[in-house]
Amino acid sequence: MITGGSSGIGAATARRFVAEGAEVLITDINMEAADALAAELGDAVTTFRCDVKSEAEVKAAAEAAYARWGKVDVLVNNAGSELNRPYDETTEDEWDHVLNTDLKGPWLMCKHFVPPMVKAGSGSVINISSLNGLVGFPLSTAYGSAKGGLVVFTRDMAIELATTGVRINCVCPGVIETGMMERWTDRMPDKEAAQTMLKGVMPIGRMGTADEVAGSILFFASADSSLCQGAVLSVDGGFTAQ
Ligand code: NAP
Repeated sequence: MITGGSSGIGAATARRFVAEGAEVLITDINMEAADALAAELGDAVTTFRCDVKSEAEVKAAAEAAYARWGKVDVLVNNAGSELNRPYDETTEDEWDHVLNTDLKGPWLMCKHFVPPMVKAGSGSVINISSLNGLVGFPLSTAYGSAKGGLVVFTRDMAIELATTGVRINCVCPGVIETGMMERWTDRMPDKEAAQTMLKGVMPIGRMGTADEVAGSILFFASADSSLCQGAVLSVDGGFTAQ
C-alpha cells in the first residue's frame, strides 16, 4: 500500500514491489497518473483515490483494502507536499496544507491501516520523511516541521508498536530527481542554475534517483530489516555525514 504512489519515489517503489512479486495498492489524488502507472504495471496494481489529509477518505480506503485483500503487509507513507517560503510569508492555509499532507496524513494512515496489522501480528510501515526533517534549511519551516515531526512520530509509534510484530521505520531522502524537484526548479528565476545548484547539494555531486530511494524502502519492507524498529535511514548521498 503506497500513498502518493503514482509518481516519483512512490512510482519507483511500486515498480520495485511489483518486480518482487507483490500486489500493490496505489492511492493518490492524481488518478490520471495512478491509472496510467497501473496500466503499465498490469494486474498486480490496483488504484484507489485517497487524499491523505481527509480522515473520511483514509478510513474508506482502509475499509476497501481490508475488505478486498483481508490483510495489508506493507504501508508506505510517501504522499507529500513541499513548500519553499520564508516563515513570515507562509500563509495559514499553506502551513495547514503542508502539515496536514506530510504529518497528519501518515498519522491518519497509521490510525486506520495499522490496527488490523497489529491484530495479525505482523506488518511494516515505512514513513518517507526528508533531509529537511533532520537538518535546517532556509525557506523550509513548514516542510521541515512536518518532516521533522514525521521522524519523531515514527519513533513514538515504534515504541507503541514494539511488541506487536508490526515494525515502523523512516527513510530520509536527500535531493532526488522527481516531479517535486522539477516543480521547485520551475519556480526559480534561473531553472538551469537551480538544477546545477541541486546537483551540488549532496557530497556525491549528483541528485539521487527515485529508484535508489525505493531500494531502501524495500529493505524496510523485507525481513532483512527484522531488527529495525523506529530506525531513521538517511538516503542522501552523504549530506548528513558532513
Ligand atoms: P512527487 O513526484 O510529487 O510525488 C508525490 C505524490 O503524492 C504525487 O503523486 C502527489 O499527487 C501525491 N500527493 C500529494 N498530496 C497528496 C495527498 N494529500 N493525498 C494523496 N496523495 C498526494 O514527489 P516525490 O519527490 O516522489 O516525493 C515523495 C515523498 O518523498 C514526499 O513525501 C516527499 O516529501 C519526499 N521527499 C522527496 C525528496 C525529493 O528530493 N524529491 C526529498 C526528500 C523527501 P499530485 O501530483 O497531484 O500532487
